[in-house]
Amino acid sequence: MTDIHADIEAIRREQGSRLLVLGHHYQSPAVLRHADVIGDSLELARSAAASTAGRIVFCGVHFMAESADILTTPDQLVYMPETGAGCPMAEMADDYQVEKAWRFLQPHGGSFLPVVYVNSSARVKAFCGRNGGSACTSSNAAKVFQWGLAQNRKIFFLPDIHLGTNSAHDLGIPDDRIVIYDYRQPNGGLTPADVERATVIVWGGFCPIHVAFTVDQVREIRSRWPAAKIIVHPESPKEVVRIVDAHGSTAQIIKYVQQAPDGSTIFIGTESQLVKRLAAENQDRLTLKPLHASFCPNMAKTNEPNLLRVLRDWPDRNRVSVPSNVAAEARSCLERMLAL
Ligand code: SF4
Repeated sequence: MTDIHADIEAIRREQGSRLLVLGHHYQSPAVLRHADVIGDSLELARSAAASTAGRIVFCGVHFMAESADILTTPDQLVYMPETGAGCPMAEMADDYQVEKAWRFLQPHGGSFLPVVYVNSSARVKAFCGRNGGSACTSSNAAKVFQWGLAQNRKIFFLPDIHLGTNSAHDLGIPDDRIVIYDYRQPNGGLTPADVERATVIVWGGFCPIHVAFTVDQVREIRSRWPAAKIIVHPESPKEVVRIVDAHGSTAQIIKYVQQAPDGSTIFIGTESQLVKRLAAENQDRLTLKPLHASFCPNMAKTNEPNLLRVLRDWPDRNRVSVPSNVAAEARSCLERMLAL
């Protein structure tokens, strides 16, 4: 009988520094035990950019592997164990729709600067790069917004309605200046007056995993566990974000847990694999529970058998390769973020 775990480890040992395995926090523990680096989108993008490994295997979703390919040299090859692991939020903004929106927004209400969440396709990042904008993650979205606003530019943010709205709110921008572009409607459902009054235009995409958190769940936790703290990811709806104790990116949630006093009970509103792992790692000190169980099925598409298959056979169909013209423009948008 083959031992998948041992086979993967044997290949990793044999490949040494020629191989880099990156694992997103939402991956299962069985996959993460084979990762050289575990991190959120920003940490993994930085690791890819700094790596000299000839082969990078990305255990995450498609846009993350695209970013790794964009940030590495042409002779470094990026693979995914399962290339069908996409991100529904990223797919809610395609470059054709985004260009159309940009053409509509430009004549109205001053100068816009695009800011794209890293959870977007390489083509959408390329749109952002050629229009002078920057990428952001949930860790640094507010900082990137500030960079744009300091240039007296209006922000055109995509694709996540909630991260965009919550980041703008964190900077003190009133709700009536945060205008939603509904990509399913002509001109986003906006009038020229809507565009003119906006400080931030936010694309109407969302993460199905993080919109599962509701005000009713928070009320229920508060009534049953009055001493417990609640923290959620900013891809959650603003109604939830504004009534909980804290909100933050994956890295910020981990830091919140690490800094919590011994004996605390914390309910966490983010992808459940991460909550389960944090609960196991901190079981001697803290009680950590999901605000509501919400697993990302796309993150779950990577497993040990398909990781072993890619490490053993290196099939072409598992490569993620962004066309060079798209990569050049997308790189400028990612590098602007990394420089910030
Ligand atoms: S958790 Fe949400 S944003 Fe992250 S990959 Fe899954 S669907 Fe996309």
